[in-house]
Amino acid sequence: MNTKLTNQDIYDHIYAAISECRLLPGTKLSEEKLAQTFHASRTRIREVLLRLSQELIVETHPNRGAFVSSPKAEDIKQVFAVRRALERAIAAELSGLDSKSSVDTLRGHLRKEATARQDNDHSALARLTGEFHVLLAETTGNRLYAENLRRLVALTGLLIAQYSDGSNRACPEDEHSDIVHAIEQGDASRAEQLMLEHLNHVQSGIQPPVELPAEVDFRQIFGLAD
Ligand SMILES: [Zn+2]
Repeated sequence: MNTKLTNQDIYDHIYAAISECRLLPGTKLSEEKLAQTFHASRTRIREVLLRLSQELIVETHPNRGAFVSSPKAEDIKQVFAVRRALERAIAAELSGLDSKSSVDTLRGHLRKEATARQDNDHSALARLTGEFHVLLAETTGNRLYAENLRRLVALTGLLIAQYSDGSNRACPEDEHSDIVHAIEQGDASRAEQLMLEHLNHVQSGIQPPVELPAEVDFRQIFGLAD
């Protein structure tokens, strides 16, 4: 890599690697190695890592450095609660826009997803299906929707990497195009409903491991409790 990369370029590289699960939760992000890889100073790498940690995608531990975040099982509920609240609002807002160019942009994105699906390109599909949600947020023109969705989508990717078997890294087929169709029809309540159902499907694919109780109660298990 010889061309000079900006901080944004470096951020984009790391963000994409995390959202495509090429960098897995818990991976150490060594400043020194990243500086060598990107031919950048450690100060700049530190700036990028700081931004990623503010977005909760990276966690830093004193004296140990930065790591790709390992969200906890209880984060699944919290991440999806916020996503449902924001994304139903986004879907409703877009339905009221009546903008042909916005729908064209969304359809263009759906075509990229379809191509990745056809080519069996799982990494690209995982990234593109996440980006679809960010694109919806951006299309509202509200920067705060977009910024928050970017962060939530990355966290979702980390949760999927950690708590699912990897077979369902992308959003279910067709659900995105149904949402775009409802937006195009200007049917806000349907777009909202489809979005909620879609997020429920994605969430149901992320299952935390069953936690075993510290102590087994044999009396209760064998029905001998009095
Ligand atoms: Zn989706």
